[in-house]
This record gives sequence, C-alpha cells and structure tokens, in this order.
Amino acid sequence: METTTLSPGLQAYIARGAQMMAATAQQRAVMRRKRFDTIAVHGLYNMEAALANQGSIIEPGYFATSQHFENSDHMETALAYQMPSWTYARIANPTQSYLEETLALLEGYGYPGEVSATVASSGMAAIFMATNPFLVQESSNANGHTPTRLNIVASAKCYGGTFMLFSQRYQAERGVEVRWVRNPLDLDEWASQIDAGTRLVFGEMPSNPGLGVFDIAGLAEIAHRHDLPLIVDSTVATPALLRPLQHGADIVVQSLSKTMGSSGMAIAGAVIARHDIPSRVGPEELRANFAMYVKLLPLRDHGPGLSPFSALMILNDLRTLRSKVDRMSRSSEQVAAWLSEHPTVETVNYPGLPSFDGHAIAQKYMWLVDGADDYGAPINRYGHLLSFTVKGGIPAARRVFDRLQMIWRATDLGRIKSVATIPAISTHQQQGEAGRALAQVPGNLIRLNVGGEHTADIIADLEQALG
Ligand SMILES: *Cc1c(COP(=O)(O)O)cnc(C)c1O
Repeated sequence: METTTLSPGLQAYIARGAQMMAATAQQRAVMRRKRFDTIAVHGLYNMEAALANQGSIIEPGYFATSQHFENSDHMETALAYQMPSWTYARIANPTQSYLEETLALLEGYGYPGEVSATVASSGMAAIFMATNPFLVQESSNANGHTPTRLNIVASAKCYGGTFMLFSQRYQAERGVEVRWVRNPLDLDEWASQIDAGTRLVFGEMPSNPGLGVFDIAGLAEIAHRHDLPLIVDSTVATPALLRPLQHGADIVVQSLSKTMGSSGMAIAGAVIARHDIPSRVGPEELRANFAMYVKLLPLRDHGPGLSPFSALMILNDLRTLRSKVDRMSRSSEQVAAWLSEHPTVETVNYPGLPSFDGHAIAQKYMWLVDGADDYGAPINRYGHLLSFTVKGGIPAARRVFDRLQMIWRATDLGRIKSVATIPAISTHQQQGEAGRALAQVPGNLIRLNVGGEHTADIIADLEQALG
C-alpha cells in the first residue's frame, strides 16, 4: 500500500488496527504476569473476547476458510497486513491465533524479551519453515570470490524426519551441505564445523530417540559469535521442562503432535522465536520478528497452514501440560531406574539417570516450571521419553516388543498412553544403516514413551515382556 496517498477510509482502518494491536499487547502484558498454569489454561482469551463470541468460555473454533470485509478500504488495509485480520485460513485464522498466543507466552515464560509464534500443519512443516528461510546464497560477493558452499551445522542425534529433511531434501537435492555433529555435548565439535557458508545451527534437546543433550547457552554463544541463529527442537522437553529462549536460543520448534498434544488427536507444529535474532541473510523483517515473517510470507507461499480444528485439539491438551509432564516424568524416573536394574537390559537412555552421559547438562537445563510452588524448592524433571537396548540383539528386542500387552506398539510418542517403538524399523528406518550409526540408533533399541497410567502397571507390562 502506498502510504503517501492514503484516503481517509484507509487511514481509519489503519488507526483501528493500531487500537486492536494495542489491546492485544495489553492483554499479553497482563498474562505475562501470570504463572505458567494460568497461561496454559487461558492464553490470551479473556472475558471481553468471550463476550464478542456469544459468551463462550472456551476459545471458539472458526472453521470458515475466509473472512468477510466491511468494504474495500477494510479489505485493502487487511491485505496489506496493516491491521490485524485473518483474511484466509492458509495465512491466519482466529482459532490458530489463540494457539499461537498461548505458545508464545508458554515458550517465553521467564524470558524478558518479546516472543512470537506461528503454527504449522506438522512438526516437520515447522522445522522446514524454521530453517528454509536461511538457506539462501548471498547474491554477489564483494571480492568477486566464489561464495563458500552453503551449509548448516546440526546435531546428528535428531528425529528421523529431521535427518531426512536435512540429508535428502537439503543436501542431496539442493546441494546444501549438512555438517553433522556426532557428539552434541562437545562444544568444540560444533564450533569447528562453522564457516562463512554456514547459515544456521540446529540442535534437538533432548533428542528422539537417544535423549542426547547439549549445552544450550554455550552453543548459543558460539552461534551468535558468527551472527548465526540457534534453532532448538524442544519437542521432547516441552516448555513445562525447558524453555531454550531463556538460555540464548533464537528459535524453538515444537512438534505439537507429541507431548503438547498428548491426547494424540492432531498433527501440528510451531515455530516460536524471540524478536531481533541474528542472521547472515534475509530481509530486516526476518530478524525483527522471525515467527511473524514466516507466517506472513514463506508459510503463506509454501502453504502448510494448520487446520483450526487441530489448533483447538492442541489448545485443549495444553491446559494441563505442566501437571501431566510432572506426573509422567516422575513415573519415567521410576521406570528408567527399574529397567537399568533388569538383568536382560543392556543400557538405558534417560536424562534423569545419574549414569546417563548427558546427565549433568540435563540437570542444568531441565526443571519443572514453577516446581518450587509444589515441592518447596526447584525440582529437576526429565520428561517421559526413554529408550533402552536389550541383551540378545535385534531378535531379542523384537521378542520383548512383540510381548507387550498394554503398552501400544506404535510410531508415536508424547502420549498420555504408554507407547513403544523400535526406531530402527520405524522412525529411523529410512535413513539406513549408516545414518543410524551416525545418529547412534542401534537395531536393538526400544523407545518407550511413559504415559499417564499407574507406574506399577507400566512396570508390570515391561516385566512380563522382558521375562
Ligand atoms: C515427531 C517429531 C517431529 C516431527 O513432528 P510431526 O508433527 O510428526 O511432523 C520433530 N521433532 C521431534 C523431536 C519429534 O519427535
């Protein structure tokens, strides 16, 4: 929109938009003073919003594809992104935005700066949206030198889908070099991979399925020294246990399909970013508010918008996130300890076990949010994902897996119901033997998502299966 020749009609809508944004900012400020559980239950949806929605005390689901405008001035202002509006549900939608505001508040809890979120149709869509905007070659090189080959530096201990996105879609198809970090605990290994062609640093914490961890603050410092954003996939921890932005990360990606949507009724993802992030490439808008930039431009053009119905499902699950994660983490600690004593179990990966390789780092970063209010002092919690290998190799692991009677056999995690999988034949099948060796996913590894059932019943099922 040409701002120099604005008609009074357009100016009126821009002014109305400014008022709407001020009201939202005020409500955000009100909610930022509340505790985590209160934010999870209410988000930005307050009494005034309810009265504008027939009094509904739950955020309404808006399933219409598009928005009607009062007149051409209203439409023009909205389509120029000069006032809050949603226009068309691929770009935005009121129900999606309730979820986005809640996510930004939860992930930004305890972080003093501004945080914004945009939701996407899956965790993978969120990871694509969080990384792809940085994968651009500088158009010209001042010295006339050939630019250094584009690359990204990422932890090899990551989700199978992420491994495929990076190694196949980015590296094999587009020539973006992926520099895998084998031991994410080793900050020197990260630092040694960065050069002039690097565009971003990506880590998963804790990782699925190996529960690998890294020093977020240390890695953020390294990334920032090179003007690079640190992107953290924090799906397994959720903001109830870890909020990477507090420790210097710039962008967090979440698969909302997992613990944040623990009922397992929706596939969804989110990109949550602090404002004013570092980047060697891209327009100023990308740095100023990355999540909003992604929402308004790349996500609009690539098209992985989230269904409003799925947004509502995730909102419902989020309300009880903290108490569920606390309960399931306590249960997981017991299950992990029990497994590590079992004679047929070889190794147990769980960040809460003192014998675990990354335990000290996990202990530094993974705390139950507002835990002191329940337990009198801050308390470590390590989530509800663990993995273990059994003696006797792949055939033994398959026998144990096949004998489970209550714990579901499914390629899934984050559930309120206990679920197990063998990553080598499921989530990490397609990356092949070499890829699994790189990510340290042996064939006899069983991944276990500890659900909300009574701990004794979970252990009983494992006992008969291992027996
Ligand atoms: C499942 C998962 C993803 C992908 O999420 P989808 O919603 O299935 O696309 C990304 N990262 C981690 C750690 C995951 O567990």
